[in-house]
Amino acid sequence: MERTMYFLDQKDMPTHWYNIQADLPEPLPPLLHPGTKEPTRLPPPLFPEACNEQEFSKERWIEIPEEVQEIYRTWRPTVLHRARRLEKALDTPAKIFFKYEGTSQAGSHKPNTAVAQAYYAKKQGAKRMTTETGAGQWGSALSMGCMFFGLELKVYMVKVSYNQKPYRRILMETWGANCVPSPSTDTEIGRKILAENPDSPGSLGIAISEAIEDALNRDDTFYSIGSVVNHVLLHQTIVGEETRKQMEMADAYPDIIVGCIGGGSNFAGQFLPWIRDKISGKKPDMRIICVEPMAAPSLTKGPYTWDYGDIAGLAPIVKMYTLGHTFIPSPIHAGGLRYHGMAPIICHLYKLGLVEARAEYQIPVFEAGVKFARTEGIITAPEPCHDLKVTIDEALKCREAGESKTILIAHSGHGHFDLAAYDEYLSGKLKDYEYPEEKVREALAELPKVPSGI
Ligand SMILES: *Cc1c(COP(=O)(O)O)cnc(C)c1O
Repeated sequence: MERTMYFLDQKDMPTHWYNIQADLPEPLPPLLHPGTKEPTRLPPPLFPEACNEQEFSKERWIEIPEEVQEIYRTWRPTVLHRARRLEKALDTPAKIFFKYEGTSQAGSHKPNTAVAQAYYAKKQGAKRMTTETGAGQWGSALSMGCMFFGLELKVYMVKVSYNQKPYRRILMETWGANCVPSPSTDTEIGRKILAENPDSPGSLGIAISEAIEDALNRDDTFYSIGSVVNHVLLHQTIVGEETRKQMEMADAYPDIIVGCIGGGSNFAGQFLPWIRDKISGKKPDMRIICVEPMAAPSLTKGPYTWDYGDIAGLAPIVKMYTLGHTFIPSPIHAGGLRYHGMAPIICHLYKLGLVEARAEYQIPVFEAGVKFARTEGIITAPEPCHDLKVTIDEALKCREAGESKTILIAHSGHGHFDLAAYDEYLSGKLKDYEYPEEKVREALAELPKVPSGI
């Protein structure tokens, strides 16, 4: 029998998250305070203290609280699949595995951190959380997390998506959250932006500023972010830790790991538990390929510099590959990949040459998604369709070279709420976008001025 699925028993689910900060060859650059521009911690009233500690911790293993494990077990461990039908269709000697996070209740990897953050907020006495969301994937995951721990949630949702994509808003409301279009009249920054431009379509940077302002103005409320920061990447490592056990069951070890990066959390959650073998010299030739859209190419086109995480400059300044915090993306369908910056941990590893990056156009990305649907049957979210494009390219290279490499895909979620995008692709209406070089230069004129020597 040819095995295609590797199940991990619930009793074998990992009990600890893996913290890469214990094993980095060089420490991460500091965070800078948005006002003083001095090295700082995360602003204390914003996040629960436990998250703040994890952000800077150098402890290698951090125990997953029992209450969080209990909720994880409502959908975890997730399955590792061997994509034998895709391999056959490509006639490749490569072995292709994918770890599928689409079976969580929200349909993606995002609940892995949403549940943890809601738990820590509740434990510290909060009644309420705020957050931003683009297409609604993060907002829906945190709505579910807050539901499990009895917290209220207010979600500031980028206005274009709020108007165009009602289904994820309905998910949020069904789980009990309050979702408003951003810019909104509920915050000072929202009112200011609306006064200047009543038709503002909104952006993730604006929505982050609104959610932060709301949380700073109330002492029963913590802010929550779904990607980019160190503690979110940490919570996602449950994915890679499970996969390590499952690849062992399959008697396999990845030569190439592929994943899409928006803020970087799902892919980091898969590859951080493996990259320690590359750093330690156990598997020095392992390739880790980060895939981003041509329309938001922070690693492949942005400079490595200091920038704000949000439009109002309320969040700390971080060192990252960035398109500038004033970046307004083209309307590509991979809503989760449109952030202007990138997780500092991924940027640091890229700078050190430990991971590679590639940018892809959306038409070939959807072509790969349809190929996957017509072989493995799964309708993939537009974000991980980027992984599929690069995986197919690598598997075809293996065919040409007659090499049997093992490729592992970080498959972050299903595309059941993205069928309009598939419809556009299938009817030939989809367009490719590339972010123009001169726009990168323009936006960089607005970077914060940071004292030299940091
Ligand atoms: C949000 C999202 C992403 C992008 O976010 P990361 O933090 O880079 O993982 C990727 N895939 C899916 C399915 C998402 O919902």
